[in-house]
Amino acid sequence: VTFKELGLDPKIIKALDDMGYEKPTPIQARAIPYAMEGKDVLGIAQTGTGKTGAFVLPTVHKMAKGRARARMPRCLIVCPTRELAAQVAENVELYGKYLKLEMALLIGGVSFAEQDRKLMRGVDVLIATPGRLLDQFERGKILLTGVQTLVVDEADRMLDMGFIPDIEKIFNLTPFTRQVLFFSATMPAEIKRLVDQFLHQPATVQI
Ligand code: AMP
Repeated sequence: VTFKELGLDPKIIKALDDMGYEKPTPIQARAIPYAMEGKDVLGIAQTGTGKTGAFVLPTVHKMAKGRARARMPRCLIVCPTRELAAQVAENVELYGKYLKLEMALLIGGVSFAEQDRKLMRGVDVLIATPGRLLDQFERGKILLTGVQTLVVDEADRMLDMGFIPDIEKIFNLTPFTRQVLFFSATMPAEIKRLVDQFLHQPATVQI
């Protein structure tokens, strides 16, 4: 299967061409069609499989088609660490480079003032670690009512780091109608419980 056959927006195909990616990895080939159908997806895959593309590509595709009335976050991607969040942001920038998306990276260790300015101007995509995201929410700087896609990356690492209560809060702050793309390398009981509670009849893709 090719990226074109998956039906991704031509602007994304062009970006993929620029990057020299010839075809989707197995996790991408299997997860992207479900995500593009609007289904919730549970992806069980390790780093190195191309899992980031498996959630960033369909998310960016969805934003290429739709337009927000006001510029408020339509997509929220939550990652366990600053480094991972920065890496995901880089992917969004690369895959979405022809789409004119505005994004904000909400991670600790960065001044609030800088993030606040970015948020004031309006963003389409938020990429965040749980603590800083909730801080910014409590400070009244972000509105999550327009979120159409919620991505949770490396859920099992969130568990190791004690972030499950934060993740539950984040699920509850986003509209019930959002699509969820949920990725984890392993499926411990606490993660299974979270999936059962918050995903709606997810398609499971395991690599
Ligand atoms: P990840 O598992 O998301 O951390 O990706 C692992 C590596 O594979 C990263 O360096 C990506 O840039 C690369 N990659 C992702 N998708 C593809 C693809 N379809 N073709 C070639 N390389 C890819």
